[in-house]
Amino acid sequence: MPDDRDAHRTKQIGLNEAVFREVNERVETIAQSLSSKPDSILLVCECGRIDCTERFEMSVSDYEALRSDPTLFAVAPGHAIPELETVVAADGPYEVVRKEVGKATDIAVETDPRSQ
Ligand SMILES: [Zn+2]
Repeated sequence: MPDDRDAHRTKQIGLNEAVFREVNERVETIAQSLSSKPDSILLVCECGRIDCTERFEMSVSDYEALRSDPTLFAVAPGHAIPELETVVAADGPYEVVRKEVGKATDIAVETDPRSQ
């Protein structure tokens, strides 16, 4: 049973990730408005650290696959938070993490820009 401070931290991380995912949705939209068929887009790291400035390229098709599941996020290598998420793919300039069930997952689903 996490104490209140843990719950607060988990919620904050979940909200930060939601913000970065929102940024990346705009990155994709802008890339598609500049080029009719962009191969890849430059994403911001979706880890929960508000001061993280890591960026990496991802192909548009990989990005679409990532966004098809609201519990998946892309982070720079080593940026996963082990107590909150599991690395499910790590064979590129980024890692794909899946949120563990809990508050951060609830936030991830609730804030999914594609389910509103
Ligand atoms: Zn990061």
